[in-house]
Amino acid sequence: MQPFVYTRAATPDEAVRAMASSGPDTRFLAGGTTLFDLMKLGVEAPRTIVDVNSLAALSRLDTSGSNELVFGAMARMSDVAADPKLVREYPVLSESLWRAASQQVRNMASVGGNLLQRTRCEYFRSGEPFACNKREPGSGCAARDGINRGHALLGGSGACIAVYPGDWAIALVALDAVIDILGPRGERSISVEALHVEPRDTPHIESTLGRDELIVRIRVPASPIARASTYHKIRDRESYAFALASAAVAVTLERDIVSDARIAIGGVATRPWRARDAERGLVGQPLTLDTALRAGHAALAGASTTPANQFRVELAARTVADALMIAKARG
Ligand code: SF4
Repeated sequence: MQPFVYTRAATPDEAVRAMASSGPDTRFLAGGTTLFDLMKLGVEAPRTIVDVNSLAALSRLDTSGSNELVFGAMARMSDVAADPKLVREYPVLSESLWRAASQQVRNMASVGGNLLQRTRCEYFRSGEPFACNKREPGSGCAARDGINRGHALLGGSGACIAVYPGDWAIALVALDAVIDILGPRGERSISVEALHVEPRDTPHIESTLGRDELIVRIRVPASPIARASTYHKIRDRESYAFALASAAVAVTLERDIVSDARIAIGGVATRPWRARDAERGLVGQPLTLDTALRAGHAALAGASTTPANQFRVELAARTVADALMIAKARG
């Protein structure tokens, strides 16, 4: 048993103040579906927990606006996934949530906390005797010469090749979503794409979020491109599993020619990965299985593989291609 101090914040400002005045071993508690898991494994051992579950203002979602969709960070994954407007007009967002986790987890997990879930690298989660730079900076990386079938093809470094495991962030990156962040100095906004960072020499630093900052809402620009969209996820089993490869795509076709395309890939990179070269290559082309597959291969350009994970390059390229054809059928 690791003792810790539990506090419950009544307002977002109070939550941020509590975090700012506590030591570095303080964590926000949202749905708890990642934090409790990592506490049981000994990866996280906070001395203080600031519970933000009572912040009703952060639980609201509003998809009625003509400029943007707004999701309070504490909105539950299952509520957002079931929103009728999302299901109808933004299937890439709805599907990325439905295809994540189990119904029980989706009922608890928040859409803000979901963005910050940590890697499923087994060496990171197992601890001693395995070396892990993310868990213990400077200790090494057991995955480099170990079991790395599920590790990153893109964005890795000599220090870490752990995959960013989320689905929701991939869809948000494809649609240019923004997050609002509250800190001791007030509010700021960044793109979801700017939230996660590649491991480089500091794999223990996973985001640009300050320790004392709280994600308060997620905003997605309203866009007709999302009608012809999908989140396509390939995994070892059909449900409750992480992606071997995934693709969040959206397309606009004018007289069968692609005039706009969004492609982001998941399950294969150290952070949500927007494939802009693949998008550019598709614009002005007819969308056929051939051009879709070319876009898939462009999305994987620069992939770095091991003998165990190289099969996922072609798998991911075909996942992008399949996703594009599904999106086309919805246009
Ligand atoms: Fe740790 Fe990253 Fe190596 Fe996994 S891949 S063992 S998380 S350093």
